[in-house]
Amino acid sequence: MVLPADLPTGVLIHGEFVGTATTFAVHDPASTALIAEVADGGTGEAARAVDAAAAAFPAWSQTPPRGRSEVLRRAYELMIAEREELAALICLENGKSLDDARGEVTYAAEFFRWFSEEAVRIDGDYGVAPAGGTRTLVTQKPVGVAALATPWNFPAAMATRKIAPALAAGCTVVLKPAAETPLTALVIGDILTRAGAPAGVVNIVATTDPAGVVSTWLTDERVTKLSFTGSTAVGRTLLRQTADRVLNTTMELGGNAPFIVTGDADVAAAVRGAMLAKFRNGGQACTAANRLYIHDAVADEFTARFGAAVEALRVGPGYAPDTQVGPLVSERAVAGVGRLVDEAVADGATIAHRAHVPEHGWYYPPTVLTGVRPDAALVSEEIFGPVAPIITWRDRDELIEQANSTELGLASYVFSRDVRDALQIAERLDTGMVGINRGIVSDPAAPFGGTKQSGLGREGASEGIKAFQETQYYSVDWA
Ligand code: NAD
Repeated sequence: MVLPADLPTGVLIHGEFVGTATTFAVHDPASTALIAEVADGGTGEAARAVDAAAAAFPAWSQTPPRGRSEVLRRAYELMIAEREELAALICLENGKSLDDARGEVTYAAEFFRWFSEEAVRIDGDYGVAPAGGTRTLVTQKPVGVAALATPWNFPAAMATRKIAPALAAGCTVVLKPAAETPLTALVIGDILTRAGAPAGVVNIVATTDPAGVVSTWLTDERVTKLSFTGSTAVGRTLLRQTADRVLNTTMELGGNAPFIVTGDADVAAAVRGAMLAKFRNGGQACTAANRLYIHDAVADEFTARFGAAVEALRVGPGYAPDTQVGPLVSERAVAGVGRLVDEAVADGATIAHRAHVPEHGWYYPPTVLTGVRPDAALVSEEIFGPVAPIITWRDRDELIEQANSTELGLASYVFSRDVRDALQIAERLDTGMVGINRGIVSDPAAPFGGTKQSGLGREGASEGIKAFQETQYYSVDWA
C-alpha cells in the first residue's frame, strides 16, 4: 500500500503539524516493514500542547452548542467520505483485516455523529426547594482541558470515543495515541482541523515516552480531566498519579469476557457469535470472549462446529482482500499469547483446532483449546489474541461463580433460545455489558464500560458527555 504523500506525521499543536528533534518508526505487523517515521513528542511538546488547549478553551467552551455540534457533524461526514483511505491506514499500522478496519472507521465516525447530536441536548434543571424558601438551578459546565490516552487496538474508535464527547461538552483536548498506531490519530486530528475545529481545540502528541508525556499533563494544574483507555496495570499507575490532584478520571481498562452457551442455545448462532466475539480484531479487543463456557448438552456439537470454522479462517496481511484475521500488533504480543497457551498445554489442555498462518510476520494461529483447567492463566488473564479456551459446565451456580471469579468485569455474552433465561444469567454477571445472543456489544448510543478493575465511568450514550462536564448548581433566595 502506498501512503499518501501528505500523511501527517508531526505533533499537532495549535492547529499545526510540526516536526520534533527525533522521530520513531511505525511498522507494518504483517511484513514487519517500516511504514513511516513519526515525530517523537517529549515533555516540551506535551507542555506546549497544554498551552494551546488552555488558550483555546475560553472561546471553544463559549461557542454555541450548535457551532460545536456542526464541527463534529462535519468530522463525521469527512470520516465517512474518507473511510476507505482511513481503513487502509488502520489495516497497515494495526494489522487488522480490511473488513474489521472498515467497521472500525464507521464505528469511530458514529461517535462524531452521536455527540454532534448530544452537544445540543445539554440541559439543566430548575426546582423548588422542599421548604419553599429557595429555587435550585442546576447546570452543566465543561470540565476544562482534558488529557486523553488511547491504546493501539482500536486506534480510530478509542480516539473519537473521547474526543467527540469532550468537544461536544466544550472541552479542549490533548491526546496521546499509542506508539504502535500514531498515524490514525494524526489523520483524525487533520480531519477535525478540516472540519473546522479552531486551533488548539485538539492537540495530539505521539511519543515513545508515554509516562513522561502523560505525567507532564497530570501535574499541570490547567489539565482538569484524564480519560484513559488501556490496560488495568497502566490504569492503576495513572490513578495513583491522579490521586495527588484528586483529578476527575475516566478509566476504560482490561476485560476478560466469559462467553456462555446454555444447553438449549441455537448452536449455529452461538458459533457465529463466538467467531465475532473471539476473532474480531484477532482477539485484540477489551470485549473479546476470553473463556468459552459451553453447556455439556451442546459442548461436542459446539466444539466441532466452532473448531471447523476456526480451521477455515483465512489468516494473512490485513490488507489482502480475503483476509479474515490479521497478525498481532507486535512480536511481544505473539510471545505473550504463546506463553499462556504453552502453560495451559503443559498443564493438560489440548489444542483441538488451529488455523494456518503465514510464515513471516507477527502471527499467532487462531486456536481452540479443550480440557483447560478453570484456574489456568489462560482463563484468569486477558489473552488479547486469537485463542479460545473451551470449558464445559452443568451447574448454573458454579457457572456464575466461575464467570465472576476474575478481578475484571467489562463484557460478557450469553447465548440461549430463552431470552428470559439469558437475562436471568445476565443479571447475575458482574460485568458492565452483556451481549445476549450477540457477539458484539459496542454501540455509540450505549454506555460502554466495566465494573471492578475494568474501569471507572462510561463512554458513549448520554453518559459519555457527562464524563467531560461538571455539575454546578445555584441556590437562589426566593424569600
Ligand atoms: P497499555 O495500557 O499498554 O497502553 C495504553 C495507553 O497507555 C497507550 O497510549 C500507552 O502508550 C499508554 N501508556 C503506557 N504506559 C504508560 C505510562 N506509564 N503512563 C502513561 N501512559 C502509558 O494498553 P495497550 O496494550 O495499548 O492496550 C491493550 C489494553 O487496553 C488491554 O488491556 C485492553 O483490554 C485495554 N482496552 C480497554 C478498552 C476499554 O474500553 N475498556 C478498550 C480497548 C482496549
